[in-house]
Amino acid sequence: MNQRLFILALDGTPFTLLNELLQMGIMPHLKKLTEQSVFKSMDSVLPPVSSSAWASFMTGKTPDQHGIMGFVDRDPATLEWVLPNASHLRSQTLWQKYSAQQKRVFTMNVPVTYPPKPLNGISICGFLGSDIVKGTYPAEIGLLLKARGYRIDADTELAKQDLNLFLNDLFKVLEKRIETLWHFYDQEAWDVFMTHIMETDRLHHFFYEYYEQRDPRFYERFLNMYRRLDALIGEILDRTAPQDALLLLSDHGFTTMKYEVYLNKWLQENTFLSFSKPNPLSLQDLTPQSLAYSLYPGRIYLNVRGREAHGRVEQGIEYEQVRNRLINLLRQLKDPQGNFVVKQVLRREEAYPQAGNTAFTQLPDLIVLPEKGYDFKGNLQHPVLFDKTIFNGTHTADNAFVLAHGLSLPPGELAIDRLGASLFSFFR
Ligand SMILES: [Zn+2]
Repeated sequence: MNQRLFILALDGTPFTLLNELLQMGIMPHLKKLTEQSVFKSMDSVLPPVSSSAWASFMTGKTPDQHGIMGFVDRDPATLEWVLPNASHLRSQTLWQKYSAQQKRVFTMNVPVTYPPKPLNGISICGFLGSDIVKGTYPAEIGLLLKARGYRIDADTELAKQDLNLFLNDLFKVLEKRIETLWHFYDQEAWDVFMTHIMETDRLHHFFYEYYEQRDPRFYERFLNMYRRLDALIGEILDRTAPQDALLLLSDHGFTTMKYEVYLNKWLQENTFLSFSKPNPLSLQDLTPQSLAYSLYPGRIYLNVRGREAHGRVEQGIEYEQVRNRLINLLRQLKDPQGNFVVKQVLRREEAYPQAGNTAFTQLPDLIVLPEKGYDFKGNLQHPVLFDKTIFNGTHTADNAFVLAHGLSLPPGELAIDRLGASLFSFFR
């Protein structure tokens, strides 16, 4: 009998957090599983956001290769926003490869699977899909899911009203996802079965500091999410066959947020950027004098002549001069307490050494990597450079995790794209 592959994805769950929870006895089933598995930390990709990282998992490629550079991108020729989704993926996915091998595939809630593509099995879209009815293959599954009360994501707007209401909603969405997992598990023959849990990432964005500070208002409910996931892991261990391969993983780490840092505000204060309107709505409101602008997270693009709609920075010497000035100034940037916020500024060719010909048009000219706890926002306008909002956790590019049981991992230091690449040869 052929080996099957069961994948459980916990978005944004840090390796170090799981180790703490294991030591505290919060996750006994996971603990048992780690004793029979390879369990280690893993790097994310640049930038370490869910759409880029899961696209890297599914394609085995880095973001410059698969083409998903974040939640939002820009068309330099028009300076219009582009919202990258599955139709922008430039590389074959695991699901396409397995389908071509006549394997039955089930994927639920995996980011960047919207709009759905045909495969040998079932695809239920995830993050950035807005309408479940249009988000599934085959199409009729969407109506069924809607009728069952299935949702792609919790309502993060609730968090602005009341964090407890938001938590209730988060657990509700998680329960429905787990219920739907077992519904299809029982009903469908499968060779690969992947469920992605977004609720961990959502929990961390709003509650990570409360966990780290043992805040009595939310600490137990934070742990309850992981208690519930541990029960799910126990059920998975009970219900999968002993010879099935199990892969658990996350796509990036998390840490308590120190500050949101509004890079376009910084570019304006340092005369690299100006807008033709007091309340700019898009990059089309950039003045022709602008030298640079930024997109989330920490991506800086120069306003290059011949590339951007009204570009002014000449390619060659001026381009390098502007990049060098930005690098030198950013390295000196400090928060209100006097702490440095920039860990490193990478030039495009340093961040993506293997990038091909399209790189100059599509990739950021600089990537600003934060010290732990800073989040480089891409809002065009913000009243202050440093801010603290309702978000109290932020991503890290390291400290994701992988657990492999019954399958071997590539040797050495692991990143999510290399892990994905190794899975292309799961079935021989
Ligand atoms: Zn996130």
